[in-house]
Amino acid sequence: MAGAELIGSEEMKEVMDVLETGVLMRYGFDKERKGIFKVRQFEEEFAKYCETRCALGVTSGSSALKVALTAMDICPGDEVIVPAFTFLATYEAVLEVGAIPVMADIDETLNLDPASVEKRITPYTKAIIPVHMCGSGAHIDKIVDIARVYQLLVLEDNAQACGGSFKGKKLGTFGDMGIFSFDYYKTLTTGEGGMVVSDSKRLSDRAEWYHDHGHDHNPKVSRAMEGRSILGFNYRMNELQGALGLAQLRKLDWLIGEQKKNKQAIKSMLGAVPGVKFRELPDPEGDTATFLAFNFPDPGTAEHFQKTLGANGVDTVCFKKNLWHYVPNWEHFQAWCTANSQRFPFSNPMYRGKIDYGRHLIPQAEDILGRTLVMGISVKMPEERMAAIQAAVEKAAAAL
Ligand SMILES: *Cc1c(COP(=O)(O)O)cnc(C)c1O
Repeated sequence: MAGAELIGSEEMKEVMDVLETGVLMRYGFDKERKGIFKVRQFEEEFAKYCETRCALGVTSGSSALKVALTAMDICPGDEVIVPAFTFLATYEAVLEVGAIPVMADIDETLNLDPASVEKRITPYTKAIIPVHMCGSGAHIDKIVDIARVYQLLVLEDNAQACGGSFKGKKLGTFGDMGIFSFDYYKTLTTGEGGMVVSDSKRLSDRAEWYHDHGHDHNPKVSRAMEGRSILGFNYRMNELQGALGLAQLRKLDWLIGEQKKNKQAIKSMLGAVPGVKFRELPDPEGDTATFLAFNFPDPGTAEHFQKTLGANGVDTVCFKKNLWHYVPNWEHFQAWCTANSQRFPFSNPMYRGKIDYGRHLIPQAEDILGRTLVMGISVKMPEERMAAIQAAVEKAAAAL
């Protein structure tokens, strides 16, 4: 549970700063707020941490995706390539802007497979959304190379790997835009919240205007007199979220370091189990270690191992069966797409007759996710917990 485990006096102090002024909104109230701008400060510190030009706080990771897609001018009918293994929000955001999510396969990183991306490109493709799932990155360098060749935009969904990097550069900063989620489960939490980052001034401006009804945030006039050039909506982060984010950001590197130690210890335990292999990490240094993913040669063995581990108090997830993170399991999403298929152009053979999000399109995901187990890693894992995991692993290995 990462950041949520560490909520303490630092968060309280930042939140109290806000409550003492009583100004909960990020814009306006310049006299009353006594120089306190928590959201703005969080954005500045977050941009600095990621070594990116602009960061914009928003209400959630889901709204961050929508704000970024809108800033990138993704329009109805455009196709956006998205991996089969991701949280539902990535697909929902594409539908929210009227575009078509095109499902691509994953590779041994459990993230978007660059080779599959290339096969899904059509004349209607506008963007690619690589998602850095379960704490670690995709082959982001290769995906960005493909995007350059085909002149596509890249939006990194980095909701699950905040603080992660690839060869020293932070995940979320490789694409034209990147997003983060700070919901309660995520590595850094503000209860609910999100961030949009970009090195592009133009895209960042559009995101900022869109997320606040088009307001251009001109410091020379009052909010009521501000200009506007595009339509927008309200996805503003509030000052309490900004305050929490500031305190949490200062703990992020330490938190990742603790998780890495815990993960390494459990990895050594599992390394002794016959047949176990680990997920490919494009850059192990840049892993955030929020999860440990390991696999067996076949699904039957994985299931058997999972059952014995579970019976001994250690839970793991097989994402092929997960209801929220694997496209073929989203019957309500597929029903919506079928019902609305007339709205979509039929340029891509995938859509002939009906839109297809079937398992036959993603053989690698079907294979890899079916025999992979994912274990959550906590920041605080006391010796007793580690000993219990060791005992459970030994029992499950003996039962194989
Ligand atoms: C959590 C998550 C989101 C959405 O973030 P919220 O803040 O919960 O709206 C988007 N994409 C992925 C991959 C996520 O895990």
